[in-house]
Amino acid sequence: MTDVARGDDRTGGTAPGQRGEQTRAVHLPPQPRVEQESLGLAVWRTSTFGFDTSQEYADVLGGRTPGYVYTRDDNPTVHAFAEAVAALEHPAGEDVQAQAFGSGMAAITATLLAFTGAGTHVVAPAGCYGGTWSLLAHTLSRFGVETTFVDGTDLAAYAAAVERPTAVVWAETLANPTMAVADLPRLAALAHDAGAIFAVDSTFASPAVCQPLRHGVDLVIHSATKYLGGHSDATGGVVIGRGELIAAVRHLRVETGGILGPDEAFLLRRGLATLPLRMARHCASALVLAETITGHPAVARVDYPGLPDHPGHDLADQLFLRGDGRTRYGGVIWVVPHGGREAGMRFAELLRLPVTGASLGGTHTLVGHAASTTHRQLDDDALAAGGIDPAGVRLSVGLEDVEDLSADLLGALDELAG
Ligand SMILES: *Cc1c(COP(=O)(O)O)cnc(C)c1O
Repeated sequence: MTDVARGDDRTGGTAPGQRGEQTRAVHLPPQPRVEQESLGLAVWRTSTFGFDTSQEYADVLGGRTPGYVYTRDDNPTVHAFAEAVAALEHPAGEDVQAQAFGSGMAAITATLLAFTGAGTHVVAPAGCYGGTWSLLAHTLSRFGVETTFVDGTDLAAYAAAVERPTAVVWAETLANPTMAVADLPRLAALAHDAGAIFAVDSTFASPAVCQPLRHGVDLVIHSATKYLGGHSDATGGVVIGRGELIAAVRHLRVETGGILGPDEAFLLRRGLATLPLRMARHCASALVLAETITGHPAVARVDYPGLPDHPGHDLADQLFLRGDGRTRYGGVIWVVPHGGREAGMRFAELLRLPVTGASLGGTHTLVGHAASTTHRQLDDDALAAGGIDPAGVRLSVGLEDVEDLSADLLGALDELAG
C-alpha cells in the first residue's frame, strides 16, 4: 500500500500539502519497503495491514494471494518465529509447520480444542503440567471431553486406556519434577494403532535436547517462555507438526484469539539463535551438579536422567541429542534432601545464587520447593501418589559458572547436614 498515491487519479479533497496538522500526523510518509535481508527481525507492530484495492484485500483474505490482513490471524514477525521453531524441530524440511501463541497454555488449549469434542477421550499423564491437568480435568470435562490420567512411565497403563476410542494421547518428553523420560516411539505406535493423535509437551527438552517429530510424534508443543526464549523476558507458546494438523490448530488459534504478540515474537526468535549453546551449557552444568551432590550426607536422592540409576537414563541415550560426545539430559534437577518438607524449604533458602521462583529455562538458576509452592494443593498422600517427595526441590540450572553453582549447592547442603 502506498499511502500518498491512493486516489491520486481523482480530483477533489484537500491536496496533500494543504491538509490539516493532525491529518498529516496520521498520514505520515510511508515506511521504507526494504527488500534487503536484515539481521535483526523486523517487528511488525501493527494490528492491521493495508491494500491498494478491495480486490487485493479480498484475494489475500480468501487465500488466493499471499499476504497479511489482520494480526490476530497472522503477523509476519510471529510467523518468522513459528517458522524458526519448526526448522529447529525438524531440520529435514518436510511439510512441518508451526503456530505461535501468547503462552504455552494458549498453545496447549488450542491443540486440545482442535482435536477433541463432546464425547471424545484423551489419555494424559497424571503428573503432567498443572495447567494442562487442570484444563483437562476441570474445563474440557465440562464440554464432554473425558480424560483418563495414567502413570506417564507406564506403557501398559497407556495401552489399557486407549482401548477406549481415543482422540488424543498426551505425553511430556521430560516430566516435571522428577524428569521422567517418555518412551516416545512406543507411545506413538500405541496412539496410532488406536487411531489417536499423539501430542507431546516438549518444553523441558527443547529441540536442542529432543526432536519428538523424529520419533513418531504428531504434534510438539512448547512453552516458549522457558528454553526457547531463554531469558525470562517473554511469554509465548508454539505448536509444531504436519501442515494438515497445524491448519486445524491455526483455525482454533484464530477463533480463540491466542496469537503471540509481535514484540514477544521478536524476543523469542532472538533467543533461538543461542538455544543450542545455552542448552548445551544448561545440560553440561546440570550433569556436573547432579553428580556432585549425589551421595552428599544431606541428600536423600537426586533425580536427573544423566545419572545412570535414573529410570529414564537409557531412553534418554536413545532419544536425546548429543553434544561434545555425550547425551544432553536436560537442564532441570530434582533434589530431595533428608529431613522432609522443612529441610526442602530450608535448602532452597540456604542457596545464594539461585533465585527462588516459578518457571525454568532462563539464564538464572531458579529454585523452587514443590510441596510449598507449585504443588501446594496436594497433601502428603496426594504428593506420594504423584511420586513427589515433600522435601523435593526443583533446580532449573542456569548459565552461571558451574564452579560457583557447585560451591553454592555444596555449602548449602553442608549447612543442612551440620
Ligand atoms: C510453563 C509450562 C507450560 C505453560 O506455559 P506458559 O507459557 O506458562 O503458559 C506448559 N508445560 C510445561 C511443561 C511448562 O513448563
